Amino acid sequence: MSIQENIKHFKRKIPDYVTLVAVSKTKSPDEILEAYYVGHKVFGENKVQELLQKQEVLPKDIEWHMVGHLQSNKVKYIAPFIRLIHSVDSLKLLSVINKEAIKNNRIIDCLLQIHIAREETKFGLSSAELNNIFESREYDELKNIRITGLMGMATFTSDEDLIRSEFRYLAGIFKEIKSKFFLQNDEFKEISMGMSADYQIAIEEGSTMLRVGTIIFGEREYH
Ligand SMILES: *Cc1c(COP(=O)(O)O)cnc(C)c1O
Repeated sequence: MSIQENIKHFKRKIPDYVTLVAVSKTKSPDEILEAYYVGHKVFGENKVQELLQKQEVLPKDIEWHMVGHLQSNKVKYIAPFIRLIHSVDSLKLLSVINKEAIKNNRIIDCLLQIHIAREETKFGLSSAELNNIFESREYDELKNIRITGLMGMATFTSDEDLIRSEFRYLAGIFKEIKSKFFLQNDEFKEISMGMSADYQIAIEEGSTMLRVGTIIFGEREYH
């Protein structure tokens, strides 16, 4: 099937309230345009350099999401246009994003990435670290960032019970944080979880944002 058909099929399979972030890493601008021409505007990348190259040549109404690990010294390059950063994993990074947002006269939406997987290798905050951020005075002073939810990546495994328990854990933390720190406003609303292999479980466990690459664009080839 073509990219156009893949994206139409996939959107029919997921609920309306779930945002599809089409993860286009390693794919060409022409492949991204195929999805764009059937009306899809939300794309995710995991490397700053690649994101910049594509952003430059592609239509300006694309909503770019950064889904990969982000280094503080690269924030300045994406700050002028990035729509959502999924992978914020420290207060220090948050404060750099705030600083660059001020320079660009913007408010930048961010998700805090939570470490939910068994695997040690994955990035992300613990529940305790997350609470510390929201309770800190430094966080209170960051006026040009907006935390709109949480992101997590499940263990890479075929064990569906394990994946489900990790997503459920993330949804539980989301609820707790929302009730503790966001009772008066509803900007904290996104749970970014679910990729090509586990998106169904993620939806069942409360995902509002799927980051899906392979199902849309086909397998990736790394050179
Ligand atoms: C590559 C990537 C995805 C998409 O993975 P697929 O298995 O191709 O759907 C999702 N999230 C992040 C952070 C990624 O790097």
